[in-house]
Amino acid sequence: MTSSLVIAIDGPAGTGKSSVSRGLARSLGARYLDTGAMYRIVTLAVLRAGVDLSDTPAIELAAADVPVSVGYDPDEDRAYLDAEDVSREIRGDAVTKAVSAVSAVPAVRARLVGLQRELAIGPRSVVVEGRDIGTVVLPDADVKIFLTASAEERARRRNDQNIASGLGDGYEAVLADVKRRDHLDSTRAVSPLRAADDALVVDTSDMTETQVIAHLLKLVEERARVSR
Ligand code: C5P
Repeated sequence: MTSSLVIAIDGPAGTGKSSVSRGLARSLGARYLDTGAMYRIVTLAVLRAGVDLSDTPAIELAAADVPVSVGYDPDEDRAYLDAEDVSREIRGDAVTKAVSAVSAVPAVRARLVGLQRELAIGPRSVVVEGRDIGTVVLPDADVKIFLTASAEERARRRNDQNIASGLGDGYEAVLADVKRRDHLDSTRAVSPLRAADDALVVDTSDMTETQVIAHLLKLVEERARVSR
């Protein structure tokens, strides 16, 4: 593969999107951009400001100038709120529960989408992971992948991750949260979660992470060959 590619990876929580996107970026020697982390950083700032999550104008105000910064290295979780490393805190329950409400606010999305488009520009290939990358952020991406898996399988995976990192409150709570976030993310007015018409849909329910990465590498190589 010679030319640099823009690869959009979308899908709901728990499809293995993050590990797979990182693995794909690593295999391609590409940059990796985690747009979910950006929404999480803004959400943390909104929570710290003590804002009522049903008060949209207050969210807009608290989110307006939040200094968001993330890294490109698929092997490092770099998330900064101003100069503070918040990479662990943004994965906690408080942010996870609040992030859908904050990311449904149009002004928050407009700002972060602009930032994401800037960050995707660069000399090397980039794997951009999110919910609306193929549909809204980078509609001209070279490859668009939409990962799916059953809600139960996604909850099981997320719960395993939580146990490994000492976070979370059990499978049933995780399943309820997965379903709640699916509903909020797919029914919101601005950029609802859906596959782009030209996205390649991959159901990961019965695949291991290694199998998914190998499959995506093949899809990317095929697409790169066609567009060359
Ligand atoms: O991917 P992750 O689970 O970290 O994303 C957290 C939340 O951020 C999602 O549930 C969704 O509400 C929001 N998000 C979004 N658009 C993106 C990425 C994430 O709305 N491109």
